[in-house]
Amino acid sequence: METDDLARIIDDYSDVTVTTVCSHSSLQIFHGAKKEGLKTLGIAVNRPPKFYDAFPLGKPDEFILLDSYAELMGLKDELLARNSVIVPHGSFVEYLGADKVVELDVPIFGNRGVLAWESDRKKQREWLESAGIKMPTLIEDPTKIDRPVLVKYQGAKGGRGFFIAKNYDDFEQGLDPTQEYNIQEYVTGTRYYLHYFYSPIQEEGYQLSKGTLQMLSMDRRDETNIDEMYKLGSQEELKRLGIYASFVVTGNVPIVIRESLLPKVLKMGEDVVEKSIELFGGLWGPFCLETIVTDQLEFVVFEISARIVAGTNPFIGGSAYSEMIEPNLSTGVRIGQEIKMARDTGRLGDILS
Ligand code: ATP
Repeated sequence: METDDLARIIDDYSDVTVTTVCSHSSLQIFHGAKKEGLKTLGIAVNRPPKFYDAFPLGKPDEFILLDSYAELMGLKDELLARNSVIVPHGSFVEYLGADKVVELDVPIFGNRGVLAWESDRKKQREWLESAGIKMPTLIEDPTKIDRPVLVKYQGAKGGRGFFIAKNYDDFEQGLDPTQEYNIQEYVTGTRYYLHYFYSPIQEEGYQLSKGTLQMLSMDRRDETNIDEMYKLGSQEELKRLGIYASFVVTGNVPIVIRESLLPKVLKMGEDVVEKSIELFGGLWGPFCLETIVTDQLEFVVFEISARIVAGTNPFIGGSAYSEMIEPNLSTGVRIGQEIKMARDTGRLGDILS
């Protein structure tokens, strides 16, 4: 959205409605907004999700019902009339498509300019590596596979369709040649998904060139079937039975990291934000670095998610880290606080796009 259009729209936004699609981390987003005294609006397909009745503190005040998510593009007037601020999450971007999110003429929390850098694996690597982040080595020529690798298809979702290859034969057997792929080294280590929040408007705390950075929580994803398949035998043995490793996320487990690694965690978040300011005007709100820590205690980042991730859901009541910032602080509450603070100080233009 053009800066002038955004400024004109939010000029009337004395009373904001936190709006999102009912999926992914929306219970947490609504819960946080309600705790901060903001109005909430859920967008659902066909009917309000019944399971929301089981969690009244996470249920939005109102629902808008659609026949399909594609209709979201037609909701502009209705959403603007309610002073909606859309809080995007992974399912929101997936259901609507990154291109459409960019076109949606309703204020979005966060910088939609990040989508172009995040959704293209090459640009994402350019951003992160130029920020000094180490990423898994890419292997350009499959005949040169000399170690375990992960073959990733462009736009794969939730690890679906990835496969592990240990040599060229594995690669040839597993490949779907109709899809665009990249081959990267399979990094051995422990997976940590680091949940940050960057505010360009809050001044107290861990300071960046502008604003402050918080480390709110960490999780590890439970991925089926790879996380449990060792119980059945080796992967080679299982392949002979037609059972292949998959990486479909089914849940999230809370993590705390050894304390001596915390300075590195914060520095990585800092470098990624500073580089985003330089490249495309900034990455504000929640974001997640998906990392593997090697036995040399080195972080290798295989992906960034530039919005709230479902891995923050174990911390709706706060985490070991957010507890040292403010009791019971979840990412959802922090989003609500940021919107409220910006609204009350006339700075909504600094956190919406
Ligand atoms: P999402 O968009 O849901 O995050 P995705 O389809 O983009 O998922 P990734 O997050 O890149 O997929 O990876 C899925 C899983 O594959 C990771 O959670 C991790 O377990 C594993 N993985 C990814 N890259 C590597 C790597 N280089 N080395 C080892 N494991 C990896």
